Amino acid sequence: MLLVYPEFFPTYWGMQYYLPLVKQKALMPPLGLITIAAMTPGDYEFRLIDLNCEPLKDSDLEWADMVLFSAMLPQRKTLFEAAKRCRAAGKPVIMGGPFPTACPDECKPYCDVLVLNEGEVTWPLFLKDLEAGHFESLYTSPEKPDVSKTPCPRFDLLNMSYYAIIPIQFSRGCPFQCEFCDIIVMYGRKPRTKTPDQLLRELDAVLATGYRGVVFIVDDNFIGNKKEVQKLIPELKRWTEVHNHPFYFGTEASVNLADDVDLMDQMAAADFMWVFLGIETPSAEGLKETHKFQNVTSFSLADRVKAIQNSGLLVYGGFIIGFDSDVEDIFDRQIAFITQAGIPNAMIGPLVALPGTPLHKRIKEEGRLLEADGDEDRTVASGYTNIQTKIPMRKLLEGHRRIIQTIYNPRAYFERALIAFGRLPRAATLRGRLKHFLWMSSVMFRGTSVRRDPAQSKPSLWAKLNSFRELMQQLPGEYRKESKRFAWQILRKCPEHFPRALGYMLMGYHYYRFTIENMLPELDGALAKLPTDTTQKTAA
Ligand code: SF4
Repeated sequence: MLLVYPEFFPTYWGMQYYLPLVKQKALMPPLGLITIAAMTPGDYEFRLIDLNCEPLKDSDLEWADMVLFSAMLPQRKTLFEAAKRCRAAGKPVIMGGPFPTACPDECKPYCDVLVLNEGEVTWPLFLKDLEAGHFESLYTSPEKPDVSKTPCPRFDLLNMSYYAIIPIQFSRGCPFQCEFCDIIVMYGRKPRTKTPDQLLRELDAVLATGYRGVVFIVDDNFIGNKKEVQKLIPELKRWTEVHNHPFYFGTEASVNLADDVDLMDQMAAADFMWVFLGIETPSAEGLKETHKFQNVTSFSLADRVKAIQNSGLLVYGGFIIGFDSDVEDIFDRQIAFITQAGIPNAMIGPLVALPGTPLHKRIKEEGRLLEADGDEDRTVASGYTNIQTKIPMRKLLEGHRRIIQTIYNPRAYFERALIAFGRLPRAATLRGRLKHFLWMSSVMFRGTSVRRDPAQSKPSLWAKLNSFRELMQQLPGEYRKESKRFAWQILRKCPEHFPRALGYMLMGYHYYRFTIENMLPELDGALAKLPTDTTQKTAA
């Protein structure tokens, strides 16, 4: 079986301008495909082609008996192109994953078999039929499987040197009910978790590949089932100590993480370094409208972000514009919030009604769902909305443009990073700070010059410094100037965080280039298509 992962268009998330600097090819490998491989008996052979890293060769197709794709919505176009090629070569095509599950009718013309929903339930049904010498065109089930029985993903199928981050999953589902969220539609509102031991065995498997660096716990909401997380964290801490801290962790969580100081402290002590929060908007009306009640409390959102940073976790934030209650001041309010909260990594985009969500149903019933214009694949993660928003489309696009132009200006980005770094706790002693510096250096600099191959010899300190100097020379003038200013201030104020600050210098370069080379021209193009006096009708 040939496992194929379609290409992503550049997005803020994708880090496409960052990756060449650190000599890597993609942000993350396809966890779903390597999990499916692990669920398949040993007499099947697998080959994985991640089209974000390497091309699909004719020899791969000749080798395969069938081809299995997994894809998310932003991969729709590249999924269909690759699937067409595989079918033209006479290979049966199977599709699964979040996008085929949400939009099976769109995928149907491009494949022979759809294996939908959660693979633990539907993949064995397909395999059973395959063993019997036939298969149906659709395998689906609403059953939510017990993930404590999910086997360890086949990390051995990956070329680890391609990737900046390695994903693992502890839980699926989220107890909340945000109107726009497709996670709870697919995985339910009762979070299901793996056991601590199961997760540690997965970390063992990642470690065995020779990889060291960032491990992203890609849960929909890591703290969705706090009771189970509280069992995991002490075990995880023990594991990291026994293995001499080979990884540091990031995850996604709801903002109410800030209300549990003990949990945040335990996460920081277990080598968690950052967390992605769905903040969405500083507008309480917008949060209530979208049923994101967990973000509305008397304790302000900015204070909650600060509490998380004070515990040692840097914050990435997701933001949305275009709620029905948004008026023209929302753009300034978003800029002010992102700045005040000190969130360098702010992902902002218009509200999108994803298929299957309550929002999609409501917008459709209200007659405000816009027809796809064929260009939405490219823009789905950046400037696109399929909603006839209440705020006029021109205002929405102009406001979006202003926000990203402001927040990804290099000076503004580094000022937020300085605020965030200034809020991180510091070790009380010089020895503690030096220890932190050395540990972070050992995990962070690896990506710039070292292949994660245990067979390769370690580069000298001189080689590392040299590759850092070369890296800096690749940054454009305006950006380099602000990077140096930022680096100098970090060295003066909290030098033990310098290795992490270097990571921010490189990430900021991606945000900067993606903004000026992709997003702004894209938004300008969309604005140019709008009649000047229009209020609605055309999506970006
Ligand atoms: S908190 Fe996040 S995962 Fe949970 S329902 Fe809201 S958007 Fe979805």
